[in-house]
Amino acid sequence: MPSPHLSRRRLLHGLAGVGVAVAGWQPRNAAQIVPSAPSIPTTFTAPIGWAGQVPGDGFRIGHGFACENTWFNRGWWHTGEDWYAVDRDTGDAVIYAVAAGEVVYVGFDYPGRVIIVRHADDLFSAYGHLNFATAVRQGQAVAAGDTLGSVLLQVRRRAPSHLHFELRTFLTTPLVNGDRPSHGVKCGTNCPPGPGYWPITAPEHPTAMGWRNPTHQQVKMALEQGIPDGIKVRPQSAAMGRTVALHAEPDGGSTVRKHLTLGPDDAFALRDLSAGDPGSTGTSAEAYGYWLRIALGDEVGGWVQAAIPSDRETGSDGRPSSIDRPFLLVSAEGNAAPRP
Ligand SMILES: [Zn+2]
Repeated sequence: MPSPHLSRRRLLHGLAGVGVAVAGWQPRNAAQIVPSAPSIPTTFTAPIGWAGQVPGDGFRIGHGFACENTWFNRGWWHTGEDWYAVDRDTGDAVIYAVAAGEVVYVGFDYPGRVIIVRHADDLFSAYGHLNFATAVRQGQAVAAGDTLGSVLLQVRRRAPSHLHFELRTFLTTPLVNGDRPSHGVKCGTNCPPGPGYWPITAPEHPTAMGWRNPTHQQVKMALEQGIPDGIKVRPQSAAMGRTVALHAEPDGGSTVRKHLTLGPDDAFALRDLSAGDPGSTGTSAEAYGYWLRIALGDEVGGWVQAAIPSDRETGSDGRPSSIDRPFLLVSAEGNAAPRP
């Protein structure tokens, strides 16, 4: 399992003196905020969803962070997460800002548009392969859950329609996408979107260049902002009928307290979150560590694995590159209609 996990407990004890990237950020242009995703505790917003549904419901990560993907780009680590719909083409899925910030880039053809949002001077989110008609423009302030655009329908292209999603510490940085790129990456000089991949043969892991494991980074941000009361953990539609283990600790090796088969009426109270280091240097889906501690009535409850490695896609060494996300975090009202 990955190196030391963050959890609410540890974070509360460890935050003093640590720069909090997002919590203190103030939008510069707050008057232009557009409608948000439905009913979601905004600190947990997935970057993609179907209109009117909980973001993340019906989606999986086909190609994870710092994983190789042999059918698409053998020999390269992925610098983000590719999100796909589970049961249909991903074209026209809605893209949401994962945290408050300012849109600092709209442009390029990835294929499709790329949008980059600055959350703090050292944290940016990037969303690629979007339709050319975007919902935001450069300079606009956004809140977590605000609509940014939608996924470009890609037919007979090299890859099917999907979202390429990155969290990283730079807009441009000299060796990646600035004035002295150190590898033959496609985006070119001073191109903010960047290459999307980093050579396996490079001496540095993508995290050394400033990319972050998006799932781990999002959990870290949520813990820094505090878990709102009344958050429920619900199985996503694609996970119905799946049996999951409740562990005593957030890892795969601890005691299994019981097994649960997920059903449509399940809604567990969220007690805690845990994730691996956003800068962890793993190189397969097995490096993902994202766990939720849920309550079960009067019982003790336990930790469930919320990012499950899958070998739907693999690296050339056979290790898994895909991740299933069986759980959604929703506010107490559940899956309400979108705000008008
Ligand atoms: Zn990608």
